[in-house]
Amino acid sequence: PELINRIAAGEVVERPASALKELIENSLDAGANRIAVRLAAGGMDLIEVADDGCGMSPDEMRLSLERHATSKLPDEAIDRVTSFGFRGEALPSIASVSRFILESRVAGADGWRIEIDHGAPVGEGPAALPPGTRIRVEGLFDKIPARRKFLRSPRSEYAACLDSVKRLAMARSDVAFTLDSDGRRILTLQPAEAPARVAELLSHELGRHGVGIDCMRDGLRLTGVISLPTFNRGVADQQFLFVNSRPVKDRVLVGALRAAYRDLIARDRHPIAALFLDVPLEEVDVNVHPAKTEVRFRDPQAVRGLIVGGLRRALDEESG
Ligand code: ADP
Ligand code: MG
Repeated sequence: PELINRIAAGEVVERPASALKELIENSLDAGANRIAVRLAAGGMDLIEVADDGCGMSPDEMRLSLERHATSKLPDEAIDRVTSFGFRGEALPSIASVSRFILESRVAGADGWRIEIDHGAPVGEGPAALPPGTRIRVEGLFDKIPARRKFLRSPRSEYAACLDSVKRLAMARSDVAFTLDSDGRRILTLQPAEAPARVAELLSHELGRHGVGIDCMRDGLRLTGVISLPTFNRGVADQQFLFVNSRPVKDRVLVGALRAAYRDLIARDRHPIAALFLDVPLEEVDVNVHPAKTEVRFRDPQAVRGLIVGGLRRALDEESG
């Protein structure tokens, strides 16, 4: 089973940022209102995620480390699942390629701690923590040279981790986040409305060069912020896209975004954008890729039309 977990780890977690994403998604699924992330060496030495969610009993903790044990099995069609997880793969996979410490406490009960070293149980016992869950991942891939060699510098692993946190913090602006990296406080985000959260996270890049978007068509709604065409410092990885509050990297969406921009300014530029697309659940399948960052639309043309039209209108209005 350890070999299977390690192979699965290659699919679910390819670098610290993807492990971090899985852990934060679990915290969100657990109903957390506050999530505290700590990193050391870009997550290569340490990834810690602490939440104030529902917590787990010791039995649930043991189960969570078994492959395909999930508390989120859908009772309806799989494409109707609205929580992030439902494969039960992340925790056992991560625990098979790191030193893994899981602490959890259900409100009104005592806390418990389970330690795993590269898939092997090290020990368990009582733990003192507030209600919720705290997971520490130490030395991810340290002992797996075949995977370790694909990691880049702590600096670029850190950048990818920051990107993961930003995307999920934009997706769930109602949740408070903190991010500490190598002992430095990087982000302190209080619960906010989505536009305010996005503005806060993009203000560094975008300043006042953004324009708001809010349009609807055929039951699809598009809201968000995009940089003005006069603002030319956009880079390829500054497009934050969400479908029904889930961060996605979808070719249809990215393509529509660039097409709208290209039409407007007759030049190929990367806009900085945070766009939220809300579509009826039956219009979209989020279960395309194991990491679930891609989606499949029933009617991609309608989605593309909405984006192109919506952006054009917003930018036209802005420029007079
Ligand atoms: P999945 O999220 O697909 O169910 P995971 O391996 O990510 O699979 O998690 C396994 C199970 O562990 C979850 O279904 C959930 O019951 C439990 N779990 C994981 N993280 C947390 C958390 N932060 N708080 C409460 N329960 C958690
Ligand atoms: Mg999960």
